Amino acid sequence: MSIALNHTHDVHARSWVESANAPGSDFPIQNLPHAVFRRAGSAEAFRGGVAIGDQVLDLAALVTKQQLDGLALDAAKAAALPALNDFFALGNAAWTALRHALFDLLKNDSPIAAVQAVRECLVPQAEAEYTVPARIGDYTDFYTSIDHALNISRLMNPDGDVTPNFRWIPTAYHGRVSTIGVSGQRFHRPMGQAMAPGAKAPTYHACARLDYELELGVWIGKGNAQGDAIPIERADEHIFGICLLNDWSARDIQFWEMAPLGPFLAKNFATTISPWIVTMEALAPYRQAWTRPSNEPQPLAYLEHAANRESGALDIRLEVWLESEKARREKTGPSRLSSTSFRHQYWTVAQMVAHHTMGGCSLNPGDLFGSGTISGPGEGEAGAIIELTRAAQSPVTLANGEQRGFLEDGDAVLLRGWCEKPGHARIGFGESRGTVLAAKG
Ligand code: MN
Repeated sequence: MSIALNHTHDVHARSWVESANAPGSDFPIQNLPHAVFRRAGSAEAFRGGVAIGDQVLDLAALVTKQQLDGLALDAAKAAALPALNDFFALGNAAWTALRHALFDLLKNDSPIAAVQAVRECLVPQAEAEYTVPARIGDYTDFYTSIDHALNISRLMNPDGDVTPNFRWIPTAYHGRVSTIGVSGQRFHRPMGQAMAPGAKAPTYHACARLDYELELGVWIGKGNAQGDAIPIERADEHIFGICLLNDWSARDIQFWEMAPLGPFLAKNFATTISPWIVTMEALAPYRQAWTRPSNEPQPLAYLEHAANRESGALDIRLEVWLESEKARREKTGPSRLSSTSFRHQYWTVAQMVAHHTMGGCSLNPGDLFGSGTISGPGEGEAGAIIELTRAAQSPVTLANGEQRGFLEDGDAVLLRGWCEKPGHARIGFGESRGTVLAAKG
């Protein structure tokens, strides 16, 4: 089911792009994530690129250089377009052919003629700007962290538990595509309707409880026909890769509107994703066994498979940082709010795909899943500020002494992610940054 390790995962591999070999680089030669970019502030067309060190390899330029052939060339032409949907639709064989061809061109023993040709296709990341990397047809946001679900439930009732369906269903709501933006997104605090505790009628005002949610975004590769469920053991054929995702959330609006039909305006005003998509092949070394404790319900048969048990979990390390307007002005830097790993999730990505399609729902190349807020079991592992501060009852203190119960205008929230494991390279996701502006109302 999962992708076998191969020479592109070799920890000793080095690139002639020196910055890719620097310790702590997010983009060593073992990573090779995809994005859509152009030179910042230019009128250039957006096109596909691959990260290597502190550079973007411009695939639109590369396909003119006679350095690729066969399936890798076909894949590169699709991955060079201003939206990656056609590349996603090509499937695993094409994705892997391009990865392996780029690895050969970028490794430090590549022929000199190849190095000269490829060097002309590099654009410094410092000079690049990015856009949403595919036309997203549908966006579904899951709810798959039991620690997040328990933290939220215990805010209402200290002895509270998750709703009974949580332990049986990788549940989700259908989200909104129109307001998904790439890192750098700035949005206005939403106006909305909320019911204050004990009040007889709701009031209309700017959101007073603005929050972020630390999530991963899962990019669907190959789709499925309506009526044809994707069985869990074939889910990997339909998943292209993963990015960082911040599901901004208006808690006061959410708690009033969400029963009985789920989140609506509380979630539809902005979602921020990182530009780089790390492929499932790059993530292969960081898979782990997925376990369901014996005192918890075991998954129904359509959500159960040996390969999912063996390697369904992903150890992706994640951090949330907050940079207030004051910290930005005084250049004192962002403060880390929390850190955790995706490996703690109650449901795996393969289970999300199997469940989403079980009733016949079709997925299309470029559809996006949110993982749901990722919170770990320990202190400081919560993926939303409502959990960290217990709904502002115990505010967090930033490095410069400022306090936060919820987000304030001018706050920027940064998500970071990476994988590391003894005997393997460290690969990173780059960053997702979004900034809250004052309400327009
Ligand atoms: Mn969410």
